Amino acid sequence: MWRPAHISGIIPDVKAPAAPLPHTRSAGASRQVMCGQLRGWRKLANHTNWRMDSMLRIGIDLGGSKIELIALDDAGRVSLRRRRPTPQGDYRGTLEAIGELLAAAESELGERGRVGIGMPGAESTLDGRIKNANSTCLIGEALREDLQLLLQREIRLANDANCFALSEAIDGAGRDAEVVFGVILGTGVGGGIVVRQQVLNGANRIAGEWGHNPLPLPGEESLPPPRCYCGRFGCIETWLSGPALCADHLRHGGEAMTAEMICAGAHAGDPACEATLARYERRLAKSLAQVINILDPQVIVLGGGLSNVERLYEKVPALWAAHVFSDVIGTRLLRNVHGDSSGVRGAAWLWNER
Ligand SMILES: [Zn+2]
Repeated sequence: MWRPAHISGIIPDVKAPAAPLPHTRSAGASRQVMCGQLRGWRKLANHTNWRMDSMLRIGIDLGGSKIELIALDDAGRVSLRRRRPTPQGDYRGTLEAIGELLAAAESELGERGRVGIGMPGAESTLDGRIKNANSTCLIGEALREDLQLLLQREIRLANDANCFALSEAIDGAGRDAEVVFGVILGTGVGGGIVVRQQVLNGANRIAGEWGHNPLPLPGEESLPPPRCYCGRFGCIETWLSGPALCADHLRHGGEAMTAEMICAGAHAGDPACEATLARYERRLAKSLAQVINILDPQVIVLGGGLSNVERLYEKVPALWAAHVFSDVIGTRLLRNVHGDSSGVRGAAWLWNER
């Protein structure tokens, strides 16, 4: 039987729930009993007055392959970092792993912190359950409520691309900018908007979800539009993710290669690789020009594996000028400062009251 004993043991002033956390996906009669228990748990989670006097910020990045935790001191320096593999396809196991990671970190630090969590997906405005997550075991789960109950404190939860943008807006590439658009170009394509160092969530909690807009002005080189996992066709993600770059290279007669190999080939002067990367740059420029026309950010910061392609920062702004409705373009396209740590740093900075 699964119990968050390791968590309740470190918080003596809050009564731990007597029942195990039920699994919301159980079928049949047991599901009704479990749902009843869950409602009780979640009621407790919503009405407990969380005692919180520490200014220690703890960020947790819930990724598809690893869960990473950092603690930030007041100056934004990382004072502790821990990680462990993400239990695959196992919601309860994932919660338990987060609980254990946090308990160990707080025990080591001798202090209880404010916890922010970055994760793939977003909370539904209907019932707070997770939607749009590529870690599918999270979909439909009341992640924030379950974590608040398990960890016995208020939890701030945000999309991982929003966390990336926040981290870079606070003390990274966009630290002097009023409006920052953060873009992840990795296995998927995500985006987040930060205005005056606060995440903009939006009415549907999808602000910045630019990867599922259709590629603008596709032209012959980008037709027919590939089908996206979201069910639509020709999403920006189907052209600008790492796997999309590889698929495009194949589509135009190239060999099966990784994104890194294609970029290295272009750098070495291979004509097919060069053509693939040039198509990628044209698509990125057109797609970002639409963001500039709507949001007009001072800084667009790139993250994810493809943010390491140095030439993007020169080529793409030269190409986006043709699509931006302005005589002068002050928007800067910048590489991230915090690298792979941006997501988890941003999760900690969800507690950024000064
Ligand atoms: Zn899509």
